[in-house]
Amino acid sequence: MLKKGAKLYSILKFKCPQCHEGEFFTSSAYNFKKIGELYKHCLNCKIKFSKEPGFYFGAMYVSYAIGIAIFVATYLSNWILDLQASMLQILIFVGVILTVGTPYIFHLSKIIWANLFIHYKVNY
Ligand SMILES: [Zn+2]
Repeated sequence: MLKKGAKLYSILKFKCPQCHEGEFFTSSAYNFKKIGELYKHCLNCKIKFSKEPGFYFGAMYVSYAIGIAIFVATYLSNWILDLQASMLQILIFVGVILTVGTPYIFHLSKIIWANLFIHYKVNY
């Protein structure tokens, strides 16, 4: 299911959106000194990752959507599985998930944003 050529492949493996070969970020999400730092160009296909200054500000919207999705998934899980957690418990749970997951969500939102504008090419 997760093959090269699918946007999900690039997103989940943090690979270049165009060639799905080169790395997108310079380090892992939890390397706090280099958090969110990405290469200027793909090391494999040489595509420029930032199309213009401030290009990745738009990733904020993606990050916001991921946060909302986590809340909705938690709320629906509580309802479907009949866990009977209070709204306060749900909010605390989501708060912890979002706090611990912030670096990963930050990376995820940037790669998703890049994938909205850069498309996979077999021959580049
Ligand atoms: Zn590439």
